[in-house]
Amino acid sequence: MPIDPTLPYDDQNVFAKILRGEIPCNKVYEDEHALAFHDIAPQAPVHILVIPKGPWVSWDDFSERAPADEIAGFVRAVGHVAREQGLPVRGYRLLANVGRNGGQEVPHLHVHLFGGGPLGPMLA
Ligand code: ADP
Repeated sequence: MPIDPTLPYDDQNVFAKILRGEIPCNKVYEDEHALAFHDIAPQAPVHILVIPKGPWVSWDDFSERAPADEIAGFVRAVGHVAREQGLPVRGYRLLANVGRNGGQEVPHLHVHLFGGGPLGPMLA
């Protein structure tokens, strides 16, 4: 069920549990501001999720309320992961679903990083 992005942050969501180490993930990168791991149901040869460490429900919440250093750190981490995976050479796609119309299922901001081959018109 897509989430209501106006609800307060729910610290029982699956990505909060991954951040606390309560459930495992297939980690590809971590720093002060971000964690990146392979999507459990990949829709492309490379399908990685990058999440900020702070309690931000969605891109909307994050872009309005997060401190500038967290925003900068997260944006840099997304670019770093893409480069580390060798994706910029042939290109890749970033996507953040927001709320009901966007089809966001997990109420913790996550950017989908797709690559590794030609991508169809829509993913996620
Ligand atoms: P949608 O599922 O419609 O793409 P989201 O944008 O909220 O909605 O994406 C949630 C993503 O999280 C999905 O791609 C899903 O496969 C992935 N996912 C859910 N649980 C886990 C998990 N435990 N580990 C890794 N990825 C997960």
